[in-house]
Amino acid sequence: MKLKYLIIYSLITALTVSAQAKKTKLLVGIVVDQMRYDYLEKYYNDFGKSGFKRLLKNGTNFTNCEINYIPSVTAAGHASIYTGTTPFYHGIISNNWIERSENFDLVNNCSTIKVPKIKTAEGISKTNSPDRLLSSTIGDQIRLNNFGKSKVYSISIKNRSAIMPAGKGANAAFWFDDETGKFISSFYYLEKLPEWLISFNNSGLIEKYCNIEWNLFKPQSIYSKLPEDNSRYEADVFNEGRTSFPHSLENVETKYKYSKFTHTPWGNQILIDLAKKLLVEENLGKGKYLDHLAISFSSPDKIGHDYGPQSYEVKDTYLRLDEQIADLLSFLDKQVGNDKYILFLTADHGGMENITHLKDMNFDTGVLENTNFFKKLTQYLKNTFGTEKIIKTRFTRNIYLDYHVLDSLNLKRESVEAKIKHYLLNNVPEIADVYTRTELNKMTAGRENSNLILNGYNKRRSGDILYSLKPHYLNWEKKYGTQHGSGHSYDTHIPLLFYGNIFPAKTYNKKVYVVDIAATIADVLGILKPSNCIGIPLVKRK
Ligand SMILES: [Zn+2]
Repeated sequence: MKLKYLIIYSLITALTVSAQAKKTKLLVGIVVDQMRYDYLEKYYNDFGKSGFKRLLKNGTNFTNCEINYIPSVTAAGHASIYTGTTPFYHGIISNNWIERSENFDLVNNCSTIKVPKIKTAEGISKTNSPDRLLSSTIGDQIRLNNFGKSKVYSISIKNRSAIMPAGKGANAAFWFDDETGKFISSFYYLEKLPEWLISFNNSGLIEKYCNIEWNLFKPQSIYSKLPEDNSRYEADVFNEGRTSFPHSLENVETKYKYSKFTHTPWGNQILIDLAKKLLVEENLGKGKYLDHLAISFSSPDKIGHDYGPQSYEVKDTYLRLDEQIADLLSFLDKQVGNDKYILFLTADHGGMENITHLKDMNFDTGVLENTNFFKKLTQYLKNTFGTEKIIKTRFTRNIYLDYHVLDSLNLKRESVEAKIKHYLLNNVPEIADVYTRTELNKMTAGRENSNLILNGYNKRRSGDILYSLKPHYLNWEKKYGTQHGSGHSYDTHIPLLFYGNIFPAKTYNKKVYVVDIAATIADVLGILKPSNCIGIPLVKRK
């Protein structure tokens, strides 16, 4: 008897769950470029009620989400969020890398591998596409689930932040062109821009935003706990002879106007405007099938690079973003319906404290490329093997061996790799860890962050010797603002919020990983997860 009731009860529950999941008409993915987890805590009291706080109070908040690979950079971050896997599988090992199969050229993560010899319409790029992404994304799975009847769009200021989330099967990715001040796309998705986007581009919005003076959004007292506004740790981005408020594009050379525009909070605003326009014009969340919109805010990254985590400018950007997100949420409530969309918010990486600031505070810090470590390594190779030509080339954290030279000298790759590793670990104090290709090829990437170099390594694309740096060390000089890319907490600890009627209002402090996002979304939607997803679902739908 009891069993019978249990079965009936389970059936009813299952039906309710699937009915609720079916009701979801739109998935919104939000990435805030360079948003560290601590910003949610640090600015909490100064946020309004309807932005981040609405997501935090009503959604599921993971306070301990980590990026589980090196390098923590934008292209790898966006690819990992949406594919649920790491560069080991999705292949986006950085923003740029040396490509062995293309004559050791330095290639861009979203550059087209074979640029087609075609004439394209205005605003359609031939040189950008998702060619190099090796795994499917959550958007791809949504489209595959119903023969492409779902609509999937991705928008950002940066091309990589629009293209990586879109995956291979999206309707389109749109991003901001620094030269023209217009949103553009790729031949990969479209022959020409939709009419609504052309009219959005020609609406004069960009000129309006370029002419706004950037003043503090809230009263001065809200910012007073921060250090000096006119700080020597910040860059004078807009040629103003100071680094303090107010800022404007007045002194910026015309040819840099649109690119410098993206270094202001109006870079976020124009994306909100575009999101609203796209939602309406493409009728997202209003059809029979689940649609998906990916939005990535790039300006917080640019402003962070300019001014650093302790600046008035970064705080101001987040206080404004809070309002901008509140505005987007209330628009979604009206346009799609509060119970018909689900959303996640996360970041592609964090950022380090300003390096000069760290030095001033007596931290152990430094810049690897300011030392002559590579010259010394070359000398060591010359002494050991009679030639330095053993190294073909190198690029941030990756050293590539010349296999032809090794063969001609009858040298085994494995032993040369091991010698270089031994040298680096014993002679270069800035370096924390070194792995060789031979070592890494014996291992497989995993969900956890036990080997960040391995998780960020790709057999075809990475170098032969990979290294990481000690905390608070940088590869390249970056005097002002911040930098990121490491496997240390300041770069890897990111926010993770899920919101929507199928997510419980709960906060978890267990350790979870960036790769779990796609796994969770696939699970709550009841669809197949992306092709190389190594994450696990974090939430049971309500
Ligand atoms: Zn960045």
